[in-house]
Amino acid sequence: MENTAKKYHIWTAGCQMNVADSRRLGSSLEHLGYQFTDNVKETDVLVLNTCVVRQSAENKALGFLHSIRPLKDKNPDLVINLMGCLVGVRGTEKLQKKLPFVDVFSPPSDPGPLIAHLSQDDDFIAEADVTRNRFALMDGEIIIPEHERGKLVSAFIPIVYGCSHACAYCIIPYQRGVERSRPVGDIIAEARSLAAQGVKEITLLGQIVDRYGKDVEDGPNLADLLRLLNDVEGLERIRFLTSHPNYFGVDIMRAVAELDKVMPHFEVPIQAGNDEVLENMKRGYTHGDYRKLIAQIRTEVSNCSIATDIIVGFPGETDEQFEDTYQLLADLKMDVAHLARYSPRNKTVSKRQMKDDIPDKVKRERFHRLEDLQKTIASEINARLLGEALPVLFENKVKGRWRGRTSTNKLVFVESDDDLRGKVLSARITWTGPWSMQAQLLNKPPSPVILD
Ligand code: SAH
Repeated sequence: MENTAKKYHIWTAGCQMNVADSRRLGSSLEHLGYQFTDNVKETDVLVLNTCVVRQSAENKALGFLHSIRPLKDKNPDLVINLMGCLVGVRGTEKLQKKLPFVDVFSPPSDPGPLIAHLSQDDDFIAEADVTRNRFALMDGEIIIPEHERGKLVSAFIPIVYGCSHACAYCIIPYQRGVERSRPVGDIIAEARSLAAQGVKEITLLGQIVDRYGKDVEDGPNLADLLRLLNDVEGLERIRFLTSHPNYFGVDIMRAVAELDKVMPHFEVPIQAGNDEVLENMKRGYTHGDYRKLIAQIRTEVSNCSIATDIIVGFPGETDEQFEDTYQLLADLKMDVAHLARYSPRNKTVSKRQMKDDIPDKVKRERFHRLEDLQKTIASEINARLLGEALPVLFENKVKGRWRGRTSTNKLVFVESDDDLRGKVLSARITWTGPWSMQAQLLNKPPSPVILD
């Protein structure tokens, strides 16, 4: 029979939240009868799920958008859906004028506008129960899109949408709206449905994930949620990100230490190691607070790994102030440092009230100095693992080698002809570098159980 199903393609940029949003949207499109295609030239629905956290991300989204315009000229029936942080939550009038060839604009995490638009196409969606579909989108359970089904080992689950913190440099609160925790029942339902479809690892997401439940009276907090998720059958590993130093409490640390499925890896951005810069960034803590917090995490959760984020070249950052950041990273020896050059963003306090006065050349120099330092630190930390046997969850094969992660989120490659996907296996580390490691399996993976 000829395949007459309409096709969808989703282009996703930016953070893990967008990856989760795109998968949910794919799931609902398939519910309406659409099929995934990785070919933008043959698709009927093209979604761009965008990021604007830095100018470079915004340029990439606009670049892609303009590159696909000829497709729309050729095929006026093509439905183009612009989604995510380029659209934001505050109305689309201006964007509509600027981008007349875009059919649908959707705020971050909201498949609603596209589903509503497509549902008017009655010929095609003859049987779809749109009301039920929209409801299902918001409420937990998710059907993994067909092209990923049976292959997806690790998935993201948003637990807090938006952000109400307003760091001086950050555009996210403007584009994603105020902080909203998802109902605990939805999260558990999503975790269960993912596990039932073979997912072994979930990562809970929030701009400040530790604030989960704080906007709901008497609601469970992140530690409570971790306890509930630890009991979900079929899941092997649970992670969460991103933490904020002011909200990452000892209750969360203890939950991680106590719960067997919750992995000892944390993402806690410092952003700068100088108190005046931190104050200008409106982060709400000092470098001393942060140092204490890291020491406490390392005491409460033994053998954990910690990642941080740093922005270089924030307005007014002097050489001396940058040296404080350099020294902090040298002292604390984090496992991972995500580095960024300051990029002024519309609407933010730093764009409106401060001059982007650090030359690009200086930003780049500072960036490279931290990058070199982090390379040395990560090399040293990883070298200590040489010869150790560690449990690794394997996800997929990349260029002939199986790719997996340790409980501390370190990337491990193993050569094996067996199917390791979704398995946690003990592997001995045989080589270490700053960004990844190689290992050998200690045991053959158990042979698959065939069920009738
Ligand atoms: N809410 C999370 C994620 C924010 S975006 C958090 O607070 O960590 C991820 C990272 O992008 C941030 O941690 C920050 O380091 C970086 N970032 C955000 N806005 C930026 C900007 N205007 N310029 C450069 N980097 C930025």
